[in-house]
Amino acid sequence: MRKKLVAGNWKMHGSLAENAALLAALKPALAGIDAVVCVPFPYLAQAQAELAGSTIAWGAQNLSEQAKGAFTGEVSAAMLLDFGCTYVIVGHSERRSLYGESDALVASKYMAAQAAGLKPILCVGESLDERESGVTEAVVARQLDAVINAAGIASLMNAVLAYEPVWAIGTGKTASPEQAQAVHAFIRNKIAALDPAVADQLVIQYGGSVKAANASELMAKPDIDGGLIGGASLVAEEFVAICRAAAK
Ligand code: PEP
Repeated sequence: MRKKLVAGNWKMHGSLAENAALLAALKPALAGIDAVVCVPFPYLAQAQAELAGSTIAWGAQNLSEQAKGAFTGEVSAAMLLDFGCTYVIVGHSERRSLYGESDALVASKYMAAQAAGLKPILCVGESLDERESGVTEAVVARQLDAVINAAGIASLMNAVLAYEPVWAIGTGKTASPEQAQAVHAFIRNKIAALDPAVADQLVIQYGGSVKAANASELMAKPDIDGGLIGGASLVAEEFVAICRAAAK
């Protein structure tokens, strides 16, 4: 039985004071429940100080594909490890669409994360146009293949996947549990065709306007193993309720 895992993506939100209040509320409420918060780079030290010794892990939302050097403004995997990160989000749709990250670059970042010992949370998902033109599976397969071809199928033993339909992120439109389950099953079957053991243990999170009110229905689906939560991860009661729904 796969354990469910919920991760919060704070995006570019927060302040030292706001984070302190949010983490102080999350810590006791999530005692004993595995969860993750992916915070902006400057707040990694705060997350480490506040969360060390709890069951809440922390991570970043992006990293460089490079190990070190003249790459102004970039942050390496080793730097994230210095701040105790376990996870790093790779290939979020906002990175792909707003910052032009290609499938190949996402694969390089995924490999850089794993080479340093971090677990990538690899995001895949189709746009509204792609869904409406019936190419959802082809898009998700292409995004996955870029990583599998570069890093190998066994690399997914040390990764988490997040299926995030772009049209559902931050829009208030959630994929129905059936729509999400269909793509999750497609992903798991595709991976099972290459390596059944990898597919069986792989955590595939759903992301896209998940909130307390819709979490239980989504988490009840057999191939949905948790969530990647944006907006609702900034509201303690919402995030706690989602994590509890997943842990049930
Ligand atoms: C996300 O940021 O990955 C996300 C799914 O955002 P939201 O939950 O706000 O749709």
